[in-house]
Amino acid sequence: MKTLNVIVAGGGIGGLSLALSLHQAGIAVRVYEAVRDPGPLGVGINLQPTGVRELTELGLGTALEETGIATRRLNLCNKFGQLIHAECRGLEAGYRWPQFSIHRGELQRLLLRAVRDRLGDQNLLTGLKLTGFEQNGNRVNVLFADSQSGSDQIVKADILVGADGIHSAVRNQLFPTEGAPRFAKQMLWRAAVEAEPFLGGQTMVIAGHFHQRIIVYPIARRRNGKTLINWICQKTVSDQAPPREDWNRRVAKEEVQTAFGGWQFPWLDLPRVIEQSPDIYEFPLVDRDPVAAWSFGRVTLLGDAAHPMQPIGGQAGSQAIVDARALTRALVETDDPVAALGRYDAERRPAMNDIILRNRNFGPEAAMQLAEERAPNGFARIEEVISRQELDGIVGSFTRAAGLDVETVNNRPSYVSK
Ligand SMILES: Cc1cc2nc3c(=O)[nH]c(=O)nc-3n(C[C@H](O)[C@H](O)[C@H](O)COP(=O)(O)OP(=O)(O)OC[C@H]3O[C@@H](n4cnc5c(N)ncnc54)[C@H](O)[C@@H]3O)c2cc1C
Repeated sequence: MKTLNVIVAGGGIGGLSLALSLHQAGIAVRVYEAVRDPGPLGVGINLQPTGVRELTELGLGTALEETGIATRRLNLCNKFGQLIHAECRGLEAGYRWPQFSIHRGELQRLLLRAVRDRLGDQNLLTGLKLTGFEQNGNRVNVLFADSQSGSDQIVKADILVGADGIHSAVRNQLFPTEGAPRFAKQMLWRAAVEAEPFLGGQTMVIAGHFHQRIIVYPIARRRNGKTLINWICQKTVSDQAPPREDWNRRVAKEEVQTAFGGWQFPWLDLPRVIEQSPDIYEFPLVDRDPVAAWSFGRVTLLGDAAHPMQPIGGQAGSQAIVDARALTRALVETDDPVAALGRYDAERRPAMNDIILRNRNFGPEAAMQLAEERAPNGFARIEEVISRQELDGIVGSFTRAAGLDVETVNNRPSYVSK
């Protein structure tokens, strides 16, 4: 049992996973979350087998199964819904753990419940926003503002982890000249809506091309036989100034229908799905440039605070969870906390920086752009447009480079032994 005292700023997917992980390893931890009453915000998120493995080893496998959908297949299609490439996902692809598509808010709720049950309410403090920190010898003094009373409080810790998302205050203090996130000149319109299951009920589809596409997948089963589906319409907006990223900003249905109202697929009536969506949220496609260090003495970064990335390949949530496990292992196996944070940084940062840059290149979906360029009016047989070899080259390279291949995920030792 280590006698460390860790403070985590941010009770999102990464911060809560870290709290559960440190607790499992016997390390004292407290989470400070800016939002007073975290509600089930967001729409769909994907957890890849690498992240699901870690949550399963934290005893949350059954809860995930009951909440999300085990995705079995990914279809890449053109804008007419014609199939370009299909691949197996999760268990079907040979992983020992499924890929789960799940409502982000429900996932956060599930993690919050586990943190409260295991660590107690006294170790999950909400309505407290980190506003600064100061390293003083072998302590960190962390400053929090209380959202209700407006008063400030200073909390002392051995280690501070900034898991406070894309607008991380911890990162901002470490990199004060960094500025706003980098806008990729595309907007994402996202919603979750009840609908009839499509393509067997466990398939994720990405259809369209670089400048306009839709990502759609089921995230929960309903008792009435319907599914809750998540859809994201993504569109190039080359002349638009970047709006401030806000996960809760709504957009008018008409704007989405104007751009995507003509997209009818044999397997999904998209205009109808858009029409029936209760709330549609707008979010710019953003990331940040990789940084040269996450760990500075007794302070480090995790999840989106460390590596905000474009959502290509659905990696952000999973990688935040793996960060949490790698950091836990470093703290368990390294006596000096400063050296432990350095080890975590050296282990995780190069791979995450690589994913940030790779995701800017469109990842496996590059095949869709190729199909659009070569056959803008559709095709009779995809083999006449893109060869099998070309397709395999595009799709396979991303998975291997990111260390997400079946062998690596299945055979690596556990980060934290129980
Ligand atoms: C409200 C919300 C909705 C989202 N919806 C989606 C979605 O639908 N689909 C998707 O793929 N991804 C979504 N994301 C992003 C996704 O959760 C992350 O990309 C990924 O899970 C990595 O998680 P994270 O814990 O690093 O960051 P996040 O999940 O963003 O969590 C960061 C947490 O830190 C808190 N915080 C911020 N600043 C401070 C501060 N100064 N002090 C203390 N706490 C602070 C935030 O309130 C938040 O709870 C959403 C994020 C948020 C915050």
